[in-house]
Amino acid sequence: MSSYAARRTALREELQAANLDALLVTNLLNVRYLTGFTGSNAAVLIGADGDDVFCTDGRYLTQSAKQVPDLERLIDRPCDTALASRAKGRLGFESHHVTVDGLDELTAASPKAELHKAGGLVEKLRLVKDEVEIEALRMACAAADRALAALIGHGGLRAGRTEREVARELESRMLDHGAEGPSFSSIVAFGANSAVPHHSPTDATLRTGDLVKLDFGALVDGYHSDMTRTLVLGRPADWQRDLYDLVARSQAAGRNALEPGVKVSDVDRASREVIEKAGHGNEFLHGLGHGVGLEIHEAPALSKAGAGTLSAGMAVTVEPGVYLPGRGGVRIEDNLVVRESGPELLTLTTKELVVV
Ligand code: ZN
Ligand code: ZN
Repeated sequence: MSSYAARRTALREELQAANLDALLVTNLLNVRYLTGFTGSNAAVLIGADGDDVFCTDGRYLTQSAKQVPDLERLIDRPCDTALASRAKGRLGFESHHVTVDGLDELTAASPKAELHKAGGLVEKLRLVKDEVEIEALRMACAAADRALAALIGHGGLRAGRTEREVARELESRMLDHGAEGPSFSSIVAFGANSAVPHHSPTDATLRTGDLVKLDFGALVDGYHSDMTRTLVLGRPADWQRDLYDLVARSQAAGRNALEPGVKVSDVDRASREVIEKAGHGNEFLHGLGHGVGLEIHEAPALSKAGAGTLSAGMAVTVEPGVYLPGRGGVRIEDNLVVRESGPELLTLTTKELVVV
């Protein structure tokens, strides 16, 4: 059975538990997850009894035949109402995705069905990655690791370069190493700019003694990687080394807390208390991490307010940071997979303080 067929089988169990006869999947990422289709317009109707119908428009006639050979295919437009018109009985729809107007259209198109809110059913499955997904994440992380090594190895971090130049080089090197593209707009921050958690690259130039914060990732087979490393150009000052060591200890505590059954809020706590004890709790103002997969930010949220527990197969980031306004900040971020045998690290770039 293909991984897509296995995912559809798992979804059928969710449909039966929710007492639904079918689910109309309109979120394109969820369609991709369930079928392998990568085009820009599609929907799929998943039947509780195994009758699935995939729909796309004429632009994707050939592509869909290749990517979705195992499902009945409908070429029509719009796909949501075309599929809804075939449904009978209790029809779930993705209520977190369908608009209010869209619901009116679905209702009008499906006189033989009774529509029920069923938001988040596919996302619930996506929380736990299968090995095909984890391999794609591994490749996405490897592309980012290799791009950073090449950037440093080729002297890409040198005094006088701008944040924008470094961001462009990093992104181009990720393409060289197998990425389809960057997984989000790269954050490149020099000196005091590193104290801004989500700084957008500017024409600011790199100077000796600056902290260099790089937060970036690669997209491979639709899966995102997300890594942050903070380096120093030239000899680090004592405060930079101290700040780095603190964040590194906090990050290790967060990684070590990743175990199946652990509350996500407790993972945040394990990492955060290291920073709080050092008196920097007010300078760590974001959550510890997030799930990563077909989306750059997905469930579970590893944060104080995060609900739920970890399961084996979840892919998450661990990314504490301490930001000293006007001086500089350090964040260290890895991608990991929760495993029974201990977390699997996917981002392999060293976490020793790199001095360029
Ligand atoms: Zn990041
Ligand atoms: Zn992140």
